[in-house]
Amino acid sequence: MQLYNKLSAEERRTMIREAGKERLTISFYQYARLGNPELFRNHLFVAFDNLEVLGRIYVAHEGINAQLSIPADRFMEFKNFLDDIYFLKDIRLNIAREQDNESFLKLKVKVRNKIVADGLNDETFDVTNKGQHVNAEQFNALIEDPNTILVDMRNHYETEIGHFKNAWTPDVDTFRESLPIIENEIKQHKEDKKLVMYCTGGIRCEKASAYYKHKGFKDVYQLEGGIIEYHRQVTEKGLENKFRGKNFVFDQRLSEKIGDEVIANCHQCGEPCDTHTNCANDACHLLFIQCDSCKEKYENCCSQECNDIIQLPLEEQKKLRAGHYNSNNIFKKGKSEKLKFKKHV
Ligand SMILES: [Zn+2]
Ligand SMILES: [Zn+2]
Repeated sequence: MQLYNKLSAEERRTMIREAGKERLTISFYQYARLGNPELFRNHLFVAFDNLEVLGRIYVAHEGINAQLSIPADRFMEFKNFLDDIYFLKDIRLNIAREQDNESFLKLKVKVRNKIVADGLNDETFDVTNKGQHVNAEQFNALIEDPNTILVDMRNHYETEIGHFKNAWTPDVDTFRESLPIIENEIKQHKEDKKLVMYCTGGIRCEKASAYYKHKGFKDVYQLEGGIIEYHRQVTEKGLENKFRGKNFVFDQRLSEKIGDEVIANCHQCGEPCDTHTNCANDACHLLFIQCDSCKEKYENCCSQECNDIIQLPLEEQKKLRAGHYNSNNIFKKGKSEKLKFKKHV
């Protein structure tokens, strides 16, 4: 029985193209008590591999968080499989608005300590005492209320390209880091303001809202299903869209278009642009915003230095890279002094 991904991204890309079948990009999460995450992980891998699912799925004692893609014609099988798992029955599946058959190229199911790295000690507060869930219509009304503090629970590279009107967007690299920063900033309003929060698909707010209630905030609300579900409801019900710009997503697409407005700038020349890319120098891999003309000028690199490096023979590049790790750069160093026009939100 195969329990781990064996194909390379390139092999998978070729297979997807040859199959020529439409794929759906989907995300979902659920907090639940899992006695044996390893066993559940193996069960999922076998089933998902059979269903031709690709994606990144985290399993922990506290539940599951999944971002994946599946052939559209196998959606019902997939749905039935989930419905047979008691804590996933009728789970809300966030289906991406803009589809890309190559949004994921590997199936990775991992056991983690937590499904979202929040740095919280869950034993010290009641994680089930969550904020009140609101739909798009209720959310629209709430965020116009002068008595509301609207907080974006995402990171700087996410909020830079898109966020709700009137939202406070803390300049943070991680969710974990954002929790105390936000608390400190608004602690004097525990009793007199409504605390309204949102994130991409709702998962971060599930924990954050319980945490802030525990910290004494009286009126806590969270956007159910996050920006993805908000966008779906606004489109379906013809509501006013109060989200400006693009929604950052965690797959190959990097973002989903919501309105026509571009609220960010190319980090190299400052022209309006909201397209993220990763620096083509593998030793850097910095995540940043780059317009088409800078893309051409720097050959997909974040700087002249990186552009010089990619001209070297591969062997030379490998030597330069020896002993350096780039994993932190991918999102963290979305802040680099080489990026003149990186906005600090
Ligand atoms: Zn540019
Ligand atoms: Zn670079």
